[in-house]
Amino acid sequence: MKESFIKELTAIVGPEHTLTDRESLVCYGYDSTPELENRPGAVVLPASEEDICRILTLCHNAGVPVTARGSGTNLSGGSLGDAHSIVIQTSRLNRIIEIDEENLTATVEPGVVTSAVHRAVEAKGLFYPPDPGSMNISTMGGNVAENSGGLRGLKYGVTADYVMGLHTVLPDGSLLTTGGKAVKDVAGYNLNQLLVSSEGTLGIFSEITVKLIPKPQAKKTMLVHFPELEQAALAVSHIIAARVIPATLEFMDRVTIKCIEEYARVGLPLDVDAVLLIEVDGHPAVVEEEAAAVRQVCERHRCSSFQTAATADEALKLATARRVALSSLARMKPTTILEDATVPRSCIAPMVKLIQETARKYNLTIGTFGHAGDGNLHPTCLTDERDKDEIARAHKAFEEIFDAAIAMGGTITGEHGVGIAKKKYLPRLVGESGIRVMRGIKQAFDPAGILNPGKVF
Ligand SMILES: Cc1cc2nc3c(=O)[nH]c(=O)nc-3n(C[C@H](O)[C@H](O)[C@H](O)COP(=O)(O)OP(=O)(O)OC[C@H]3O[C@@H](n4cnc5c(N)ncnc54)[C@H](O)[C@@H]3O)c2cc1C
Repeated sequence: MKESFIKELTAIVGPEHTLTDRESLVCYGYDSTPELENRPGAVVLPASEEDICRILTLCHNAGVPVTARGSGTNLSGGSLGDAHSIVIQTSRLNRIIEIDEENLTATVEPGVVTSAVHRAVEAKGLFYPPDPGSMNISTMGGNVAENSGGLRGLKYGVTADYVMGLHTVLPDGSLLTTGGKAVKDVAGYNLNQLLVSSEGTLGIFSEITVKLIPKPQAKKTMLVHFPELEQAALAVSHIIAARVIPATLEFMDRVTIKCIEEYARVGLPLDVDAVLLIEVDGHPAVVEEEAAAVRQVCERHRCSSFQTAATADEALKLATARRVALSSLARMKPTTILEDATVPRSCIAPMVKLIQETARKYNLTIGTFGHAGDGNLHPTCLTDERDKDEIARAHKAFEEIFDAAIAMGGTITGEHGVGIAKKKYLPRLVGESGIRVMRGIKQAFDPAGILNPGKVF
C-alpha cells in the first residue's frame, strides 16, 4: 500500500484511527467464519458519513478495494479484505440518532450494536424485533448488509421487513438516499430492499432508519421434550396449522442437547431426540389461548415433558438452553463449521434425518439446531481444521446437505449470506440467468469493482 495513499487516509480520520501496523491488523484478518484468514493492508475508523464519502472517493480514485466491517461476526467471510485493500470499521459510528415515537421509527448510525437499539426502544414501550443470536455484538450495518434473522423471525420477520430508509455511500464516494419515514413509497425500483442483503458489495450504509412496533404486552415461554424427532417436526408444522404463529419456535437435536447439558446443566434429558423452545407473545388473553393450543398440539405429538415458565426469570432460564446452543457445541472441538441450510417448514424432519445420515456416512459429529418455524436449520460440524482429511469429509457432507436443501425447494443460506464461503453454491441455486442479473446490478453500482471484491460471485 503506497505511503502517499496512507497519508491521505490519515488526513481524513487522523493517525489514531488509521491502523497499518501488523499487530493492529491481526484481528482484522479474521471474522467468525472458520478456515478463512486474509489481512487487509490498512483499517480506517471514520467518525461521520462525510468521512466515509471522502474515504471512498480517495479509494475510487486510487483504485484501492474497500470492505466495510461492523463487528466481524458474519459467518461467510464477508468482512475480510486482502493486503491490497482497506477495511472501513464502523465502530465509531455508534449513535442512535433519533427514536421517533409519532412515526414509530428509529434512525441509527451503522456501527450501533443491535441490542443497544432493543434497549433504547423498549425503554419507550416500543419494539425492534430482529434479534440475531449475535445481537450483543453485531452491528445494525452488518445486520442490514446480511439481512439478519433471529429467534423472533417466524412471527415478526427479518431485518429486511424493518428497513425503511438508508443512506448509502456509493463506491465513487457519492451519497444515495433511499426511502425514509413514509410508510408507503413506490417511486421507482425498490432500492432499499436491493441494498438489504448486498453484503457490502453495492455501497456502505452510513445511516439506517428502521420501523418499530409496539412492545408486546405479554409473553409465555415453553420448553418441550420429544422422544421422537419426527413428532417434534410434525408438532412444528401443526402448531402453525392450528393458526398459532409463535414469536419463537426453535429446535435442538440430540447432539446439541447433549453438548448444552454438558456445558450449561440446564436440566435437559439426554434420552430425547429433540427439544423445542416456543414463545408466544401479544395481548395477555391471546397469549393464554395460544399457549393452551401449543400444549395440545405437543401432547398430541407425544411430547414427554412440557414446561411453561411462570416468571420472567424462569422464562430466561428456559430460553438459555437455545441461547447457549452454539457456544455449547463450539467448545467441543477447535473448529466449528456452522451452516444454515434452509428448507420449507414441512421438510424439517426429512432434512434433519438427512443431516444425521450424512454425518454418519462421513463419520462426522454434526449437531443441528435452529429456527424450526422458519425451516432455517444450523447443522454444525464439530471438527479441527488441522485434520485435513476430516475437513475434506465435512466439505463433501455440506455439499450434499446444500444440494438436498435446494432439491427440497430450500436454499443454501437462510441468514448468513454468501460471502466467500458459499459462492461456489450460488449458481446451483439461482442459475446462470440469476448470476447474470446480479452481476449486472453489481456493475451498475460499482463499475470499477472496488467494493468488497470476491464476495457473492
Ligand atoms: C454466535 C453467533 C450467532 C449468530 N446468530 C445469527 C442469527 O441468529 N441470525 C443471523 O442472521 N445471523 C447470525 N449470526 C451471523 C452474524 O452475526 C450476522 O451476519 C450479523 O448481521 C453480522 O453483523 P456484524 O456487525 O458482525 O457485521 P460484519 O461481520 O462485520 O459484516 C458482515 C457483512 O456486512 C458488511 N457490512 C458491515 N457493515 C456495513 C455497512 N455499514 N455498510 C455496508 N456493508 C456493511 C460487511 O462488508 C460484510 O459483508 C451469528 C453469528 C455468530 C458469531
